[in-house]
Amino acid sequence: SLTVGVLALQGGFHEHLTLLHQASQHIQSTDSQAQAKQFVFSEVRTSEQLAQCDALIIPGGESTTISLVAGQTDLLEKLREFVKVNRKPTWGTCAGLILLSQQANATKQGGQELIGGLSVRVHRNHFGRQIESFEADLSLPFLSSASSTEDSPSPTFPGVFIRAPVVEEVLATDDVQVLAKLPGRVDRMKPGVSQASIMDDSGDIIAVRQGNVFGTSFHPELTSDARIHAWWLREILRSKGQA
Ligand code: GLN
Repeated sequence: SLTVGVLALQGGFHEHLTLLHQASQHIQSTDSQAQAKQFVFSEVRTSEQLAQCDALIIPGGESTTISLVAGQTDLLEKLREFVKVNRKPTWGTCAGLILLSQQANATKQGGQELIGGLSVRVHRNHFGRQIESFEADLSLPFLSSASSTEDSPSPTFPGVFIRAPVVEEVLATDDVQVLAKLPGRVDRMKPGVSQASIMDDSGDIIAVRQGNVFGTSFHPELTSDARIHAWWLREILRSKGQA
């Protein structure tokens, strides 16, 4: 079996576990026997629990709080080892993306401890006070490759952004894959406007991947859409298959 942990120090870990269960049920029912591996999902609060994991999610929440708590024990160092030395599949959402970045813009508190793994610099709270939170229909090309054709792309994904970061600079352009951008020129305040229809390439970077390390600005765990979780579990199976 494969153990997928969710870092459970603070933030939306419970919501991730719910969607992981949904996603694995979906995979079991649709994928071939060979892929139908048994997943075990667990909450991670200690380095002993982390050592049991084959893959890890770092949820949204407050990145400074998560790193402060992890830094009170050896967990922060073990997380760095897990991601950067062992290169085990790790996905960070929102605060999790911040923690997986090599650099975050300076904070008022004078900086914060990061885990790293993604050669990018994020800008925290990018959307400022006026639009701290918004939803946007996202077109996520990486979701469509397996299940749809060019004629019928996957439906858009409900992107939930809460005091979200964006990737403001990719520091290693050869190694980091930009997986999604926000549509440019979007009136993000208007609910119900189909923002996927105003696609262009000028928007902010909201999903990146560097090998086994994956980060999204938004919170799939705050939706009932398990497609990204299912995609990510399949990516884990694929990377295990290659090992
Ligand atoms: N702004 C938060 C931070 O800096 C992230 C917000 C979130 O995860 N929803 O950690």
